[in-house]
Amino acid sequence: MSSNADIYHEMIIDYSRNPINYGEIKDHDVTFHDSNPLCGDSIDIDMKIDEDKITDIKFHGKGCAICMACSSVLTEITKGKSLDEARAIEKKDILSELGLEHLQAVRIKCALLSLKVLKSALYTYIGNNLKDDKDVGKLKKEAASLY
Ligand SMILES: [Zn+2]
Repeated sequence: MSSNADIYHEMIIDYSRNPINYGEIKDHDVTFHDSNPLCGDSIDIDMKIDEDKITDIKFHGKGCAICMACSSVLTEITKGKSLDEARAIEKKDILSELGLEHLQAVRIKCALLSLKVLKSALYTYIGNNLKDDKDVGKLKKEAASLY
């Protein structure tokens, strides 16, 4: 009999060996890169955005099993969402998918790197395409409070 912990562990190993949405989008509308020097995780996220919808999203780079698994889960969740829906994705949405709610502080950055990159990419895109200037300050504040 397997416990939940074993099932989550298997999911993480599986995702890290066969990541979902792994690759590049050559004609992306926005791309962003960031890294987690504590572990050596380093990823890029590319997105295609049509009107207000994220029609495609891929990530590439290298990372530990937790980073790769969370990037897979995040891109799966994000694909097809509107910009507002994607902005509303929270830490717990990613962590709970893989049973990582009680992860040690050191590994949290591995788990949340992809979310940080996604949000930064969203703010970059929205900032570049925003007609109303006064929203930009609000967006930057939201990005800064991520982790
Ligand atoms: Zn890591």
